[in-house]
Amino acid sequence: MPGVLRAVPSGKTNLLNPTITSWDQMPTWNLVFDIDFTLTGDLPSLRKLGQKLERLQQADQARVLFCTGRPYPDVLHGLKHEELPQPDAIIAQTGVELYLPPFGSFSTPLLDWQLQLKKFGFSEEEVHQRLIDLNDVISLEAANCQTPHKVSYAIMDSKQPLEWLAEISRRMMEPVGRYQVICAAFGESYYVDILPGMVNKGKALRYLQELLKWQEANTIVAGDSGNDQSMFDEGFKGILVGNARPEVKEYLQKFPAKQFYQAQQNYAKGVLEGLAHWQVPTFDD
Ligand SMILES: [Mg+2]
Repeated sequence: MPGVLRAVPSGKTNLLNPTITSWDQMPTWNLVFDIDFTLTGDLPSLRKLGQKLERLQQADQARVLFCTGRPYPDVLHGLKHEELPQPDAIIAQTGVELYLPPFGSFSTPLLDWQLQLKKFGFSEEEVHQRLIDLNDVISLEAANCQTPHKVSYAIMDSKQPLEWLAEISRRMMEPVGRYQVICAAFGESYYVDILPGMVNKGKALRYLQELLKWQEANTIVAGDSGNDQSMFDEGFKGILVGNARPEVKEYLQKFPAKQFYQAQQNYAKGVLEGLAHWQVPTFDD
């Protein structure tokens, strides 16, 4: 009879070895990273971060997620050419596309999330129509930044970008809940994403977490700019890297310190510092 010769019944090993029992009970961390200027910007520190993450992933102690404004092909480019760590899930295009492994150029976004987005009644056509007379001050970003559920512009008028942001937001207010305007700034450049109402990085992450039944208590998000705020809004533990935009630092000051950690160091070094603060194994040594 199969199994008779087994000295230790399968699944009982941990009863005989307390070390293994505690290993079994260790939480799996969900480590969620924005890419640009959170992971990128300091290659030696990114390498160090990547090595530590890989060790945790191999021991099933961590999952690595990207939550980025980049189009999916640009994430693949980063994996190949920018030494990004290997992710277990990818949230791309500021939350409107989710990807699960295997990651290849053939991959398509998770269909169920795409169907959920349809419910908002988002129309690229309508967005273009409402903003068409602003073509002196805003310009559409590259074609790969546009999706059926996201229209992205750069604000060209660098003298009063916030006024134009307010104007765009005003035009997208009706009907309530159909559209959402998210701004991300890099240096002096301002970019605007128009998305289905209530869809953003934080909501996409929340959806994925519930879909895959991951424990929220062990989720940590890290970011630097305006489109990362929604991840903090969802109440996950957070890391704000030292180089974060001043307006995001100001925004997060209203959050209780137990929910987010302001790193002193920049880029991936700030992420390393933050993961140590939250006592993720191997980072706190
Ligand atoms: Mg960023």
